[in-house]
Amino acid sequence: MNKELVERLLPGLTHDINYYEELYPKRNLGEGAIVTRFAPSPTGFVHLGNLFMLSIARKMARQTNGIVYMRIEDTDQERLVENGISKIIEAVREFGFTFDEGPINESEEGGSYGPYIQSKRKEIYQTYAKELLLKDLAYPDFTTKEELDMIRSEQEKSKRRIGYYGKWARSRFLSEEEIIKKLDEGKPYIIRLRNNGDFNNKIVVMDAIRGKLELPEDDIDQVLIKNDGLPTYHFAHVIDDHLMHTTHVIRDDSWLSSLPIHVNLFKILGFELPIYAHFSPLNKKDGETIRKLSKRKDPELAVSYYHEMGIPSEALMLYLATVTNSNFEEWYLAHENEDIDNFTMSFNKVGISGTIFDMEKLLSISKNILSKISALEMYDKTLEWARKYDEEFARILEKNQDLAVKTFNIERNSVKPRKDFAMFSEVKQGIYYMFEELFKNENYEWQKINNIEEIKNILDVYINKYYDPNDNEEEWFNKMKEMCDELGYASNMKEYKQNPEKFKGNVADVSTVIRVALTTKSRTPNLYDIMKILGLETIKKRFELVNEYRIGF
Ligand code: GLU
Repeated sequence: MNKELVERLLPGLTHDINYYEELYPKRNLGEGAIVTRFAPSPTGFVHLGNLFMLSIARKMARQTNGIVYMRIEDTDQERLVENGISKIIEAVREFGFTFDEGPINESEEGGSYGPYIQSKRKEIYQTYAKELLLKDLAYPDFTTKEELDMIRSEQEKSKRRIGYYGKWARSRFLSEEEIIKKLDEGKPYIIRLRNNGDFNNKIVVMDAIRGKLELPEDDIDQVLIKNDGLPTYHFAHVIDDHLMHTTHVIRDDSWLSSLPIHVNLFKILGFELPIYAHFSPLNKKDGETIRKLSKRKDPELAVSYYHEMGIPSEALMLYLATVTNSNFEEWYLAHENEDIDNFTMSFNKVGISGTIFDMEKLLSISKNILSKISALEMYDKTLEWARKYDEEFARILEKNQDLAVKTFNIERNSVKPRKDFAMFSEVKQGIYYMFEELFKNENYEWQKINNIEEIKNILDVYINKYYDPNDNEEEWFNKMKEMCDELGYASNMKEYKQNPEKFKGNVADVSTVIRVALTTKSRTPNLYDIMKILGLETIKKRFELVNEYRIGF
C-alpha cells in the first residue's frame, strides 16, 4: 500500500520500527536466564490465578537469575476501574511480590523497556501496524457490525467455519481508490492482518508445561488495531513480548485456543517465538463435580478474600508452591527449616490436569506457620489485620498489648506448640475472654458438672481456701487435688476409673468448672497460665459473674 495512504490511516507517527528495535536492545543476561512477565488487566479483581501464575514466574526467574516484570494490559478501556493499577500492585505486594521492572504506581515506573502500560504504547503498536500496511500484510477494514453479522449468518447457513478469513474477508479486496473514498466519507475503520495462513496446515509448538502441541494454522484476518487506535490483546502481546525480550510466556490455558494467532503473528513480523508455558487454573470440588473456580460462586477466588479472612500470605504462597510443583511437598518435608527459594522448580513438574484447590490444606499450613512465630509477631500481625478489618478489636489489642502478648505466648515456645489459629479473623473469637471489654457472662459451656449450686460451691471453696496467686504450676495442681478430696471428687484418675461410683466426678471435671467460669469455654490453652495472666482481681470478678448469670435465670 502506498506510503501516503498508510500515513492517512495511521497519522502522526514519529518513528519507524528500527527506532524501537534499537531503543529496546537484547537484554544482557546470563545463559538460560528466564525473562517473564505478569500481565494483568486492571479490572480491580486480582484472583488466585494471578498469584498462582506469579509464584511460577517469580520462581523461574529467580532461579535462573532472570527478570520478572509487570506489564499492565489496559487496551480494553471499558473494563478499567479507578486506581486499578495501584490496586493490583498493592494486592500482590502483600504476598511479597515485587517486580524487577514495571509500574510503581499510577504514574511512575522503573525499567528500561517501558512504558509498561499498554495504553501508553499506542504509537509503538501503530508503528508496527504501519510497517505491515506498507508491506501489504495488513489492510483497513470498514465493515460495520451489521455487515459482520450478515457474514456470520451466511457462514452458519452454508455450514462454513465462522470468521473473517479468505473470501469472507471482504475488505481485503478493496482497492486503494475504494479505501480513499471511504476515508473521504469519514467511515470508521480498524486495521486487520492480511493472513495467508492455511487452516488445513498444522503447526507444532513445544509448550514448556504441556509438551508438544499440534494446532491448526491461523487463517483469520485478525484485528491488529481497533477503532480507538489501541491494539487487540493478540497484537499487543506479540509486539510487547518481542520488544521487552520475554523468553517465557507463562499464562493460563484459556489462552491455548489463541496460540495459533500468536504463533502466526510472531512469524509474520519476523520475531523470535518465546517459549509458552500454559498452566491449568485451579479447580474446585463442588459436590461430585470438579469445576473451575468461579468469580461469581467462589469468594476464595479473589485475593481480597485472604486479606479479609487474615490468612497469612506466607501460608498461601507455601500452599501455592505445593500445588504448582508436584515434587515440592516432598522436598519441603525433607527441608522444612530451609528457605523455599532453595527448591528448584521445573516447568515439566507443573500439573496440567487442573489442581483442586484445597482450603483445608491451606488452613492447616497456615496453622502450622502461625504456631511457629513468636507471640510478639503474632500480636503485631493480628493487630495489623484488625486495624483494617476490626477496629474495635484493634483498639483493645493496642490498649492491652502486654496481656495479648502473654496470651499468645501460652504453650507457644514448645516442641509441639498449640495450633489454635489459621486466620487472624479467628483470633478475637479464640481469646476474647482474656479482655474485660469483650468478655460476656453468657453461653457458658458447662460440661459434666452443670448444677449451678455445685458450681458455685466449687468456685467459692477454690477462691477462698485453695487459690494462691503465688503458687507455681505444680503447687497449684496439688491444691486442686486437695480440694477434690475435700469436695468428694477423685484426685487420682486411676482410682476414679476403678470405682467411679465412689466419687462425684474427678479432678478434670473440677478444673473444667474453673475453666468455664473464667472463659465460658470448655477448651482453652493451659488454665494455670490463663489464671496467671488474668490475675486475682479478674478471677474473682469472673466468679461473681457466674453468680449474676444464675440470678438472671
Ligand atoms: N492480560 C491478560 C490477562 O489478564 C494476560 C494474559 C497473558 O499473560 O498474556 O489474562
